[in-house]
Amino acid sequence: MKFNVITIFPDQLLQTLEFGVIGRAIENKIIELNFIDPREFSDNDYGSIDDKAYGGGPGMVMQVEPILSSIEKVKKESKNNIQTVFLSPQGEQYTQKHAELFKKQSEIIIVSGRYEGFDERVIGLTKNSVEISIGDYVLSGGEIAASVIIDSITRLIPGVLGDEQSAVLDSFTSGLLDHPHYTRPEIVRDKEVPNVLLSGNHEAIKRWRLKQSIVTTFKKRPDLLKQRKLSKDEQKLLDEYLEELDE
Ligand code: SAM
Repeated sequence: MKFNVITIFPDQLLQTLEFGVIGRAIENKIIELNFIDPREFSDNDYGSIDDKAYGGGPGMVMQVEPILSSIEKVKKESKNNIQTVFLSPQGEQYTQKHAELFKKQSEIIIVSGRYEGFDERVIGLTKNSVEISIGDYVLSGGEIAASVIIDSITRLIPGVLGDEQSAVLDSFTSGLLDHPHYTRPEIVRDKEVPNVLLSGNHEAIKRWRLKQSIVTTFKKRPDLLKQRKLSKDEQKLLDEYLEELDE
């Protein structure tokens, strides 16, 4: 998959993405990062792409033409009708569902803002675009948000994780949080690993993990359970837990 990122600070992205599984995905060419610097399309000798806001007020605004020209450059080099993601704290809240949808595309364009953000007209002028926010807080620029999006999509691509089941079992993939994990030693500061995990009974382990997943979601993120219908069997496991609480 190819990520075309329009940014004035490509190094900030590279420095967050060059480690671990994502770094290897870049090395192994499973993903490609293509950076476009909008300053290439600046209309002045200083290479600036921002200007004062009409109506006054603090901060500078990113101009339309350098951003649009950067997007057009990518689109000209590609045959696909590529989707453009504008990073903005005002966008749709990014979730695992977005990652799964974006993964189905062979490439996307991500536009990283700076200063006060983009001139509003650039969004309306870009076909097949969406505004995405990574949370209800304001960052100084979109590069960290772009890294979050690229990382979360990349780990879903076959061949990126050592064991592909990892992504399937991760939190949110099935609408539930992940079950708890344990590693050696078996006892640490009097705390023991749950017995079932040492039993070698794969069916019992699978069932215990599903129950833990449901219970963890119930305790930590009840909002997720409201959005997800539990199967009869899953509901039985939750009821079992609630009965245990009453005992
Ligand atoms: N004035 C804007 C506002 O209050 O909506 C904030 C601009 S912010 C300082 C500069 C850039 O950082 C934005 O254009 C956007 O690209 C990026 N950014 C900041 N917070 C973000 C968030 N929560 N999610 C995605 N991108 C964000």
